[in-house]
Amino acid sequence: MYSEISLPALFGHFIALLHNPNNISTEAAKVGAYIEDEAIEKLAQMLGYGKGQATGHFTSGGTVANIEALWRARYRVDHFISLGCWLNLNTTEKLSVVQAAHMGWERYNSYLDQYQIPENELRKYSAVANSPWQVMAVYQKAFAINYSGPVVLVPNSKHYSWMKGVSLLGLGEEAFWPVNLDRNGILDINDLKKKIEKANSESRPVMMVVSVGGTTELGEFDPIHLVQDVLDSYLKTLRLDIWHHVDAAYGGYFCSMIGDTESDVDDVVMQALGAIGRVNSVTLDPHKLGYVPYACGAIIVRDLLNYRVSAFDAKYIQSPDHSVDRWMKTLEGSRSASGATATWMTGHTIGFDNNGYGKILKRTIAGRNKIKDLMKESNSLVKVLEVPGLNLLSLSFIGESKSLKQVNQQTAKLVEKINESNRFIVSKTFLKRPEYEELIQSAAKDWNLEVDDSGLVLLRLTVMNPFFLNKESNADYPAEFTQLVRELSVNLSGN
Ligand SMILES: *Cc1c(COP(=O)(O)O)cnc(C)c1O
Repeated sequence: MYSEISLPALFGHFIALLHNPNNISTEAAKVGAYIEDEAIEKLAQMLGYGKGQATGHFTSGGTVANIEALWRARYRVDHFISLGCWLNLNTTEKLSVVQAAHMGWERYNSYLDQYQIPENELRKYSAVANSPWQVMAVYQKAFAINYSGPVVLVPNSKHYSWMKGVSLLGLGEEAFWPVNLDRNGILDINDLKKKIEKANSESRPVMMVVSVGGTTELGEFDPIHLVQDVLDSYLKTLRLDIWHHVDAAYGGYFCSMIGDTESDVDDVVMQALGAIGRVNSVTLDPHKLGYVPYACGAIIVRDLLNYRVSAFDAKYIQSPDHSVDRWMKTLEGSRSASGATATWMTGHTIGFDNNGYGKILKRTIAGRNKIKDLMKESNSLVKVLEVPGLNLLSLSFIGESKSLKQVNQQTAKLVEKINESNRFIVSKTFLKRPEYEELIQSAAKDWNLEVDDSGLVLLRLTVMNPFFLNKESNADYPAEFTQLVRELSVNLSGN
């Protein structure tokens, strides 16, 4: 997921470097911290949040942004359970651990009001403030269960950053519950419901449900709208407030195409994009489809309540008297202002709407579709994996083979040969079984293959360059590329 960067982004990056501000606080970044605020606001509006509603900050990338979201979701569950403990031990309220863990900030605040509980009182029930192993005994008493801890539901297309996060926060790798993928390789909504029911029945709070907006493997969108509908219905019927995070590190910028009636994006993907403004938090990587230099990611949350996280005190940094002093709320300490400034510049020049990024990304999709069409017309040896991957395209070198194992070897060889040609650089990916079982079985059926291997090797193209299809570049890359692939695949078949 790599491309050239845009000129406005480059200028923004340079300008910030000259002053070298540290967005840790307004003391160390008199302008940078405010630019960050404005850039976050612009990105949030692109994602569909209302004016002045959302907040967040820039990170070094999507991995840190995902962990920032998990950190906040854990903070929330921990506070809710601590309050549940207090209520069960000191009042006639009787909450189950699942009811307590999902009470939501509004009910949390109203309980604090109603019973006049100082928040400090809750510290002794916190599994974050204390040793979690000691606190378990208290939970056993308060909730009358053997508590096994919360779970995190992530679709099986998961980016490896989620495993890092779960491991880092000490939740236990077991707490990572994968949600099945359907035959298109996206989150299976029925399995999501099953996993939530399973968690409820085992008294395991769902700390977070993750949907992916642009999978790293195939560029696909989970049905974010349907996931949010399911969570809304839990809130309505059972009063379970469940955190929904969208990992849109790659695909979030496609929100700039919302409202474009002539786009090539299919309806379901448009609906998914349109629902991002309903969720609790979003990861976005300007250093991917924002065409901003590394390292630049962002975490954006729905409102200040969702932004709450364990606050730490450092006497030598000025106390936060303004919302843009973020040092207590960011996982990272010192943070360069260059990513925020680069993003701010792109927002003010290119624009995050149909006429700006929307237009650029439309071209990338057209570039991908062009290769797809040419490939289908000109080469019967190499097949396209038919999924709605926007500007990602995945291919498999089938040739005359009837065996998945052999096809995988051929595809890997073809990738090697393309990269050796020094004309194009392509990537290779491997969809594993059982994670992608349904997709692999369905593709194998279409391609008439026996499933005799542990997964599917794909030649993967990320068509991120908007000039791929363009007269300005004075070259016909899609035609050249398909021609090269044809020659190589014919050659390899001959051997
Ligand atoms: C790229 C990506 C990440 C991680 O982002 P980094 O910027 O590499 O840390 C996380 N999730 C998805 C879906 C991604 O595409």
